[in-house]
Amino acid sequence: MTSTEPQRQLPVLLEPPERVLSTLNDDGSRRWLSPRLSRGVWLERRRAVAYGLILLFTVIPHLRMGGRPLILIDIPKREFTFFGFTLLPTDTLILAFFVLGVLLSVFLVTALFGRIWCGWACPQTVYMEFLFRPIERLFLGTAGRGGPPSARASAGRRVALYAVYLLISCLLAHTFLAYFVGTDALARWVRQSPLEHPIPFLVMAFVTGMMMFNFSYFREQTCILACPYGRLQSVLLDRDSLIVSYDRRRGEPRGRMTHAPGAAPQGDCIDCHLCVATCPTGIDIRDGLQLECVHCAQCIDACDAVMRKVNRPPGLIRYGSQNAVSGEVVRTTRWRIILYPAILLVVGAGLALAIANRRPVDVRVLRSPGPPFAVLPDGRIANAMRLKLTNRTSEPARYHVAPRDAAGIELRLDHDDITVLPGRTETRGMLVVAARDQFTAGRAQVTLIVTDGAGAHVETPCALLGPARDAEPAP
Ligand code: SF4
Ligand code: SF4
Repeated sequence: MTSTEPQRQLPVLLEPPERVLSTLNDDGSRRWLSPRLSRGVWLERRRAVAYGLILLFTVIPHLRMGGRPLILIDIPKREFTFFGFTLLPTDTLILAFFVLGVLLSVFLVTALFGRIWCGWACPQTVYMEFLFRPIERLFLGTAGRGGPPSARASAGRRVALYAVYLLISCLLAHTFLAYFVGTDALARWVRQSPLEHPIPFLVMAFVTGMMMFNFSYFREQTCILACPYGRLQSVLLDRDSLIVSYDRRRGEPRGRMTHAPGAAPQGDCIDCHLCVATCPTGIDIRDGLQLECVHCAQCIDACDAVMRKVNRPPGLIRYGSQNAVSGEVVRTTRWRIILYPAILLVVGAGLALAIANRRPVDVRVLRSPGPPFAVLPDGRIANAMRLKLTNRTSEPARYHVAPRDAAGIELRLDHDDITVLPGRTETRGMLVVAARDQFTAGRAQVTLIVTDGAGAHVETPCALLGPARDAEPAP
């Protein structure tokens, strides 16, 4: 139980046969959870990891590698920088391998260690349990008091609590947005009046509002209702994945401790409900694996403390696979933990290959709108084309374009060289002029070479159109 006081409910019109959601009262109103803190080794370990991660989440946007941000997801420019390496939308293959690798890693980690991400590293859990919840306990207290803040503290305390929440939400929104706009733009906006950058200001206000809503009101519902990962656990986990489990063989039949002569033999669970009172998603782990369980291990700490008090060995609730806890055969190798790494190796090799063969410049030749070709007074054929150059490096580059086989081909551009800034694309019109004898059945194929004087050398085909009738052979 997460609240020792009954929460006010509306009259029930249609009573559900069983509890539908751990956060829903029978009348459909919100069942407000205020989990009891259970101290123990797992809490200490998670706290150390959580504070380390909060520090990491905060400093990453300020770190640079090779002059570029460590991580920057620039959506308007469609640039994604990871560890100083910038991916552009044209890096489709690298992006595809990268996303596939991340997905497969999630599958593998879940198959091995269950929802370890949710309980130990997800920002939702980390900030909720190790920042917002401790502050709430500071303002509202904990001792046996459940329900929403309005039922637990005076108006003054609640105002103070929400003021602190708002301040933290604002700081978190700035940190979160730094991953998308970079710290330089963020620092500039912070120094300027909101009137000088109204759109970014509104985005910041919206994100702050979302943070506030999430951490002060929506809370565990994000994990239960909004996050798709929990819902996938039934396909990602198997009976040998490491999860938080209740040892039913040892715990049942549960019941209050009794030393009465002739009393029926009892399991180790004394039915104290402390494992339920401490659960941040309000479930009873004794009912088995549930999608609401974020594997935070609070019920392990709660139950171990109870077991110590009643002189029984700890571990009635523990990290263990379903097969291990129920005494069935534990498989050390399963098809999924062989298959996932094997596919990951292939994807990793593909990613390495795609990165190694990544061109420093992306070249595209497109036809200009209008007539397909023109016959010049000297009889040669001109095709109007557009040349699109994308600089994939982190330095400005000056590109020179020329036909590979200059005999019979002339290239007319406004300027000999085209300067393109890092990560940017420039498009230039050009006229490709070819002698009529270059055409066969109205088509000719030429190759353009793009160089930058610093080692880049990219060859790209350029298809020309001409008169359907071939040139008369020379007498
Ligand atoms: S904390 Fe342990 S003993 Fe108490 S109800 Fe839960 S499983 Fe049973
Ligand atoms: S059942 Fe235990 S591990 Fe799962 S969310 Fe609740 S307290 Fe955490």
